[in-house]
Amino acid sequence: MKHEYSVQSLNIVQFAKQEGQLQATVPLADMPRLLRETLPTDQSVAVYIQARGWMQADASGAQEPWLHLQSTATLRQTCQRCLQPVDMAMQVDRQFRFVATEELAEIEDEESEEDVLVISQTFSVQELAEDEFLMDMPAIPMHAVCPQPVRMAVQDKDFDQGESEKPNPFAVLQQFKKGGS
Ligand SMILES: [Zn+2]
Repeated sequence: MKHEYSVQSLNIVQFAKQEGQLQATVPLADMPRLLRETLPTDQSVAVYIQARGWMQADASGAQEPWLHLQSTATLRQTCQRCLQPVDMAMQVDRQFRFVATEELAEIEDEESEEDVLVISQTFSVQELAEDEFLMDMPAIPMHAVCPQPVRMAVQDKDFDQGESEKPNPFAVLQQFKKGGS
């Protein structure tokens, strides 16, 4: 039997017991916290979400629900080298284990390799994905190779003189070194 699951409200135990799977495409506009951290684009940006659930025995043999989240999105940010927009292709791939209470989750999250969350009947995989992207946001987004060379502020006044009259930056650097010593 095929089940329909909601990316915004999931019964975690049921999803795991049924070894459920879900796929969703969520507009970035529906993730307001993540939207605030990105630059606007002319096209709408979509976040792709995939989740899979299963039950797994812990060390004492008790069955616990698990969830594997995979999510991708291309988020526009400001390149910290050239200050132009840069589209950062981001990917979340993480496993979560669910426990009964907040107290258990806090203790076990410290001790476990996987992330530990609290069992819910209305769990939002969409918010989980949003949280993960926010945590994974690069502190210093940058182009691998910037599309145009970085223009120094001191060169701006010479900008209209044309390419040929621009001083060779290495020559300038040489003069600078001589002057400084
Ligand atoms: Zn750049």
